Amino acid sequence: MHKIEHLGIAVKDLTASNELFSKLLGVAPYKEEEVASEGVKTSFFEMGESKIELLEATKEDSPIAKFIEKKGEGIHHIAFAVSDIHKEIERLKGEGFIVLNETPKRGADNKWVAFLHPKNTNGVLVELCQDIEE
Ligand code: ZN
Repeated sequence: MHKIEHLGIAVKDLTASNELFSKLLGVAPYKEEEVASEGVKTSFFEMGESKIELLEATKEDSPIAKFIEKKGEGIHHIAFAVSDIHKEIERLKGEGFIVLNETPKRGADNKWVAFLHPKNTNGVLVELCQDIEE
């Protein structure tokens, strides 16, 4: 893991939150993207080496909808950049972490992603992400 790639924030209304975060950060989101398989719409703000990702649920059974129902809006996950996601998954499994998807999935912003179960990470949902090179 070599840097915090982004922080993911669960929001109820992406349009309103894009406006809010544009004011807060002083920059507009550089992209919006829907990940249909995860039931989310996302937007990304660049903050130096890292990014802020806003996530809005697009369906009721989306993990983001469930998160907001339980905990309200707020920080949902922290994502670390890795250069070899398969190797990192093996390493973390060896350390006793539970990897929620051992086969990396295609996430937003052109990344392979995998998540760790928050019960082994002090309640923090951790995302690993690696750039997709095509
Ligand atoms: Zn993310």
